[in-house]
Amino acid sequence: MSRPLAGRNIRALYAESEHEEVALWADPSSGYRGIIAVHSTALGPAVGGTRFWNYASDEEASLDALRLSRGMTYKSALAGLPFGGGKAVIIGDNRTPHREQLFRAHGRFVESFGGCYVTAEDVGTTPADMEYVRMETSYVAGLAGGSGNPSPVTAHGVFRAMQAAAKHRWGNDDLKGVRVAVQGCGSTGYHLAKELHERGAKLTVADVDAARAERAAHEFGATVVAPEEIVEVEADIYAPCALGGVINDRALARLKAEVVVGSANNQLGEERHGDALEELGVTYVPDYLANAGGIINGCRELLGWGVAETLEKVRAIYDTTLLVLALAKTEGVAAHRMADRLAESRLAAAAGAKSDN
Ligand code: NAD
Repeated sequence: MSRPLAGRNIRALYAESEHEEVALWADPSSGYRGIIAVHSTALGPAVGGTRFWNYASDEEASLDALRLSRGMTYKSALAGLPFGGGKAVIIGDNRTPHREQLFRAHGRFVESFGGCYVTAEDVGTTPADMEYVRMETSYVAGLAGGSGNPSPVTAHGVFRAMQAAAKHRWGNDDLKGVRVAVQGCGSTGYHLAKELHERGAKLTVADVDAARAERAAHEFGATVVAPEEIVEVEADIYAPCALGGVINDRALARLKAEVVVGSANNQLGEERHGDALEELGVTYVPDYLANAGGIINGCRELLGWGVAETLEKVRAIYDTTLLVLALAKTEGVAAHRMADRLAESRLAAAAGAKSDN
């Protein structure tokens, strides 16, 4: 059941999650209700998209903003980008035709952060929506004609992470003949499957949208299975490219693959599921390491990077993946914990440098 924003003890929620700032805002004339969460600006302005979603409750919306903004801090830190982590959520039906007033209200809210939060598109929002945001603030990326569709770049980063995981696991990063099960053939899954097919991998795919799975079968010779079967396919690599929370107790009991790496955000149902992967001997590349290509692509617009510089940084996901997996092995910890440690050490170094000045 939905509860009003006013009176919610969001303060307690974000005190626990160590956010720098979280604000709620409503604009009754447009029906706008939104939350902006700034997790950290230690490395630079907090960058993260605006998610527009019909949340079941305001608490759910707040938790999503808190969780996603924290994830952005870690993603940028590990990718070596000069950004902190932030996220905005707009609460409501993202199919609404009344977009101008709504997104202009959102733009005023973003502007009120004075540049410590920079927004972009995310689930439920489009480049056209960002044009309305732009009418009220300059702290917005993801505009039409900006850095373009991030999905092929994200998919390439996932591919690089996959090569590194193969090298770590099997001593060879050639994916020819390697069996990959791709869950979700949308923007990132499709491009990942394409790149894998070009490198001679053997694909099995699933999508709740049957036409998308069939397209991958037709173009890449992939075998199609039902969505609920993809996790238990006899494959070497499982690539979650649809939803979060797919590494859970049920999936762990059925998983056959030796390696898990994909584009989906928040793949682990809970932290302990990352530890369970380690205990099962599965090589896991933390999602925010593998899928950093999207935010790296945004550097073209946010930092004026050229294509070559951007691709070089995406390719470097290979080296970071090798480093995380090697350190995790040496230290005897699960890969997701080692990735967190590396990100946190970069954040601590930045905080130390600030306090020395
Ligand atoms: P998308 O919506 O284009 O594709 C997701 C696909 O998954 C769709 O085709 C959908 O039908 C399918 N799907 C949904 N539920 C499914 C299920 N239960 N089983 C199988 N298929 C299912 O989204 P996307 O842009 O490809 O993003 C996929 C994931 O990657 C998301 O978690 C997103 O947050 C993350 N991500 C995307 C980018 C990017 O650049 N697009 C960057 C970073 C992270």
